[in-house]
Amino acid sequence: MNAHKNDFRGCPPASRRAAAARLGDVEQVLAGTLSEQARRCGRPGCRCADGEPHGPYAYFTPRPAGRGRARYVPAALAGVVRRYLRRGEQAEAVLAEISAINAELLARRELR
Ligand SMILES: [Zn+2]
Repeated sequence: MNAHKNDFRGCPPASRRAAAARLGDVEQVLAGTLSEQARRCGRPGCRCADGEPHGPYAYFTPRPAGRGRARYVPAALAGVVRRYLRRGEQAEAVLAEISAINAELLARRELR
């Protein structure tokens, strides 16, 4: 476990404010996974039929499940998608931290 996550035992409101300040911009976020898949096109005589498949190609699958199926991501956008996914994970981690602080405040009957 991360040591700083327990810092809020001292002063929860100050820790909560510090965590919220770290949240930063949350416009450029994505929740999901980026995966790569090689494909066979099915054209007779293509090199992929009994050799190298095409790709790999990138696919984005949104989370939570049910928000849509995997979509092809053009190579030029794969880096952007990775950046948005990283930003989304950071934002989720900070929100979980703030939620834990608020749960502590609730346990102390200090939630306002
Ligand atoms: Zn092929």
